[in-house]
Amino acid sequence: MPTDLLRKVWGFDDFRPGQQDIVEAVAAGQDVLAIMPTGGGKSLCYQLPALMREGVTVVISPLIALMRDQVRALREAGVAAGALTSGNTEAETDEVFAALRDGQIKMLYMAPERLASGGTLPLLRRAGVTAIAVDEAHCVSQWGHDFRPDYLRIGELKRALKVPLSAFTATADAETRAEIVTRLFAGADPVTFLRGFDRPNIHLAFQPKNQPRRQIMDFVAARPGQSGIVYCGSRAKTETLANALNAAGHPALHYHGGMEAEARREAEARFQREDGLIVAATVAFGMGIDKPDIRWVAHADLPKSIEAYYQEIGRAGRDGEPAETLTLYGPNDIRMRRAQIDEGLAENDRKNADHTRLNALLGLAEAESCRRVKLLAYFGDEAGPCGNCDLCQTPPEIFDATRPVQMALSAMLRTGEWFGAGHIIDVLTGNETDKIRQRGHSTLPTFGVGTDWSRPQWQAIIRQMMGRDLCRPDPARHGALHITETAHPILRGEARITLREDSIKRAKPAFTPKMQVSEADAPLFSALKAKRRALAEAQRVPAYVIFPDRTLQEMAGRRPQSLDEMARINGVGAKKLESYGEAFLHVIAGETAPMHPQRRALAGRSAGTLFDRLAETQMRLARGEDGTGKPLSCSTSQLRRIAESRPSSREALSRMLDDARLDRFAEAFLSDIASL
Ligand code: ADP
Ligand code: ZN
Repeated sequence: MPTDLLRKVWGFDDFRPGQQDIVEAVAAGQDVLAIMPTGGGKSLCYQLPALMREGVTVVISPLIALMRDQVRALREAGVAAGALTSGNTEAETDEVFAALRDGQIKMLYMAPERLASGGTLPLLRRAGVTAIAVDEAHCVSQWGHDFRPDYLRIGELKRALKVPLSAFTATADAETRAEIVTRLFAGADPVTFLRGFDRPNIHLAFQPKNQPRRQIMDFVAARPGQSGIVYCGSRAKTETLANALNAAGHPALHYHGGMEAEARREAEARFQREDGLIVAATVAFGMGIDKPDIRWVAHADLPKSIEAYYQEIGRAGRDGEPAETLTLYGPNDIRMRRAQIDEGLAENDRKNADHTRLNALLGLAEAESCRRVKLLAYFGDEAGPCGNCDLCQTPPEIFDATRPVQMALSAMLRTGEWFGAGHIIDVLTGNETDKIRQRGHSTLPTFGVGTDWSRPQWQAIIRQMMGRDLCRPDPARHGALHITETAHPILRGEARITLREDSIKRAKPAFTPKMQVSEADAPLFSALKAKRRALAEAQRVPAYVIFPDRTLQEMAGRRPQSLDEMARINGVGAKKLESYGEAFLHVIAGETAPMHPQRRALAGRSAGTLFDRLAETQMRLARGEDGTGKPLSCSTSQLRRIAESRPSSREALSRMLDDARLDRFAEAFLSDIASL
């Protein structure tokens, strides 16, 4: 029965790990607490049981935009759903009231603020509510960052209605969990499901900052047309980076907390709706974004803690498809993050805890083996090497760094822990600057002992030492490095330490464009996406509400020829089959594939096939062989002339293309012509 609904309404073949048990418990009317990672598919765990049960299920969620999207998506799938939020127009609210009265609603989404109003309880009684589902249940925790006072009223509502309650969250340590049980379930233990924190589809990677702008631009260029977020450490950077991305031909928006509310909402809506858009944002962006097909998340600057990192990268790949991340970090980031903690207003205990969380992230950045093992271990999950992180793929070279680390620590001590990395390196490498002379540091025993290593190598060593928390920049002394407890055993020669040799041989990042489908299916996949975009725009819904990427990929690969075959594609439920099946079959049959007039002129002629081939080739080479060049393309009339006249040499081609285009395309075009 649940699997039938899963098939019929959602068009999914299988449950995600853990979903089925939860669905069954909720459908059976048990009190349930489910902790699942973001993207684990929580919504389905209360939506599906709502359809299996008599009466109405109330869903309480803190995010209005998200509720509205879910209601739209449910209606698209043929489920009677409605929302009561402050975002409603009066007409929408009246419509929901009427539907409730007529027994025409199965799922009622409600903002927590509604619970404060006296009319709500009678309304829910009359409507025949038989279950409550609470999304983002950690909002009930007064100690968390997302506390919502109105969530405290939910327990009362449950007792008044005498109905089962299911609570869902992605973030719950043992304390928050206990608090949820007390406040929502009045202490009576619910059936608890705890799903691991692993998000195996997310690729993890870190790089020390080297040419940070270039590193981000290269990362983006290698992922053409994919939606992504670049998190930046400052508001100003979001703007400059978005400009740079646009200038390089990657459509991008900026977003930060200093923007007008209206501009922020517009940016969120565009990102949600449009395909392949990039947002350069501060961490203000994210809560309330429910876009399952974000293909990558990059950090242009180091996040503030391991929890923040996990949450931010977790916005990628919620649809379970492969997604990628890249986090850049450098000594300045470490200095800035430490200063933010030290200069904050928190109590000392809190500051120490924050340093520990930052240390955990730095440990991840400087890890010597599988990053996922380290990340999950922090959250208490055990795992083996994942094969889906940069370190599993290219194990780093490690060297015994005890000697240089001792030298650096000793240089710090002997200069009174009073100087930053630059000066320490001057001492180690014997660089007689004015400052060295003034302070008499050229007479120190450590002066010039470190000439086996170059300046950049020392920078990498000290960065890693900061990452291991052997030394910390002191904000009260303008970033002067002081030694921590952790360093003492190394200094005394009681412990050895290894470091990564990445500053010496820096692996070149791979530039092969990451494709979502095989080369042969790529043109059809693009055509299907174009159709989806058109439908989504016409109905003013985000693209994935029509179909997720995964479904289009499958269509492109399996190319269904009839409605029956279409129904077998994952993600095509009965209602969607009816609404969109025909439209997408047409695209697959090629009947409505948009055809440029220049191409249409060649239809039915062999030049037409050559035209298509040339068009594909120029797409592939739009940014050169390695995907990093300046974007370049030919006009359709140029392609048509080439397809018709079939030049056989570079010289002949040069009559139709300028030098830049010849350099980019000539060789590949000539081989296309020769092969057809
Ligand atoms: P969460 O709220 O846990 O972050 P969602 O409920 O938003 O996650 O689900 C994330 C994505 O996974 C959505 O795009 C959803 O359609 C998809 N999904 C959920 N369950 C399944 C399933 N059984 N099979 C395929 N996709 C699923
Ligand atoms: Zn790994």
